[in-house]
Amino acid sequence: SDTTPLQRGLPIPQGISKDAFLSAVNELRNSLGAEHVQLNDKEIKNGWYMESPNTHDMMPLFDTEEFIASAVVYPGSVEDVKTIVRWANKHLIPLFPISIGRNLGYGGSAPRVRGSVTIDLGRRMNRILNINADDFTCLVEPGVTFYALHEELVKRGLDDKMWIDTPDLGGGSVMGNTLDRGVGYTPYGDHWACHSGLEVVLPGVGEVGDVRVLRTGMGALDVGGEKTWQCFPYGFGPYNDGIFSQSNFGIVTKLGMTLMPNPGGFESFMYTFPKESDLAPLIEIIRPLRISNILENVAQLRHGLQTLSVKGHPRTKYFDGSGPMPEEIVRKHLRETATGECAWVYYGMSYGPAHIRRYKLDIIDKEFHRISGCKRIDPSTLPADEYFWSRDRIASGTPDLEELKWVNWMPNGSHIAFSPVSPIRGKDAENLFELARKRHADAGIDLMPAFCVGLREMHLIVEIVFDAEDVGMKKRAEKCLRDMIDDAAKLGYGEYRTHLALMDQVAGTYNWNDNALMKFNNTLKDALDPNGILAPGRCGIWPKRYRNRGWEL
Ligand code: ADP
Repeated sequence: SDTTPLQRGLPIPQGISKDAFLSAVNELRNSLGAEHVQLNDKEIKNGWYMESPNTHDMMPLFDTEEFIASAVVYPGSVEDVKTIVRWANKHLIPLFPISIGRNLGYGGSAPRVRGSVTIDLGRRMNRILNINADDFTCLVEPGVTFYALHEELVKRGLDDKMWIDTPDLGGGSVMGNTLDRGVGYTPYGDHWACHSGLEVVLPGVGEVGDVRVLRTGMGALDVGGEKTWQCFPYGFGPYNDGIFSQSNFGIVTKLGMTLMPNPGGFESFMYTFPKESDLAPLIEIIRPLRISNILENVAQLRHGLQTLSVKGHPRTKYFDGSGPMPEEIVRKHLRETATGECAWVYYGMSYGPAHIRRYKLDIIDKEFHRISGCKRIDPSTLPADEYFWSRDRIASGTPDLEELKWVNWMPNGSHIAFSPVSPIRGKDAENLFELARKRHADAGIDLMPAFCVGLREMHLIVEIVFDAEDVGMKKRAEKCLRDMIDDAAKLGYGEYRTHLALMDQVAGTYNWNDNALMKFNNTLKDALDPNGILAPGRCGIWPKRYRNRGWEL
């Protein structure tokens, strides 16, 4: 792993002197144990996905030392988290909670405000508190990864009975991904919709130094809440869980999650479509199939170039010119792959016993073949290392890491996503594809779009792969992203999630009725976190102390 000394020294948070900060850190060491508080005063260490740093974004869009922690603390209990919150309020030091910190493409483990103290919750609070094999639910602490939950099912001999749902990369936490409203690829792919119950440490401190912990839904019952905490997400009264996702209103210490019963069989399928212009008619075919659950999972419709890049070779193997790789070159190289030349690839899975799958797969096959030149790829012809099998594992609940391979496309390969949401309509897919193509051409960057189709909407995920050492390319990537966000907003599309660096811009597009939504978020922020210590700026929400003081990007 590559290590470089810090250029700008210990990143002290604004508004506190170095001496006061160091003495505050010593105070925290005394309460938590010196070994659980680490100053970030020496070096930048990058590593790779499975050894990702917890102090900064290892795929930085700006200077590495812009979004960086001054220290990392490792709480071992909810009591420790309360201690940290009390401490931060006393010294007005910004905190930034992470569970695992592998939120790559969206900021990794980096805090939004330079010099924040990162609370690495996952390091010590990583227990699976419960797996209920009758109700098909579980309760986890922050550090439980998709891999760990899967391994636990295997260890308990439950993996044949129930599945987890994993995102493209399984090394992140169930909690972090769910709170950031990430998706996976079984019918339980909408993680937020599938969760049930949170335990949250609130950021404010009462008059006698008390820090409040609350449980949402049925967990709020005085006695016996745990009986139904993971079965019924709503409880009584306002449904509060939402304000703790994509926000900075609380530190989540427990999360309930539902698990999927083994459907009794599964079968991946893959179709290719020859022309880029097949996109719109294909999306029109997909919509009714998806809404009626004939297409059962959040499937992916990927551009051919992604199928090429996920082979893991650098782009220079295929092309060393500047500007986006020409279409004929992409096609020429795809022709030599097991899945052949195409513009689009659809990866899906059918669930259930063979006769039930047959019924659905026949309909899909007939419908997809309305696109001329559509090809079903027979999985038995595909080698074991073909990317198809990675999608097959993921869609059947087995965590995987293959998806990382397309980062090799560029030297010092890093990625950052543009992720707008639209209805499942041909015209919308075309609008988004066109605006992305135009902006990528302007920026001279390869376009790798994938449409992830949910039940009534789709996310377009455009991952820009850039060279983290190439300042010029990072500038072009940033401009490309910002232009796409603006173009999309003018056409009525908003992002479902974004990188730390772009959160103000994206939040700014959700400004209907004189910014009513952000005003509401600000009201909540000021009430729950009056000292503004928790993750200032995350998702565009700034505490009063920072608001309109030049922090927005
Ligand atoms: P992953 O587990 O996928 O690596 P992270 O731990 O980086 O993801 O979480 C993604 C984002 O969600 C973080 O940047 C943080 O802002 C937020 N987050 C993660 N865990 C918590 C938590 N326990 N409480 C509050 N916010 C959290």
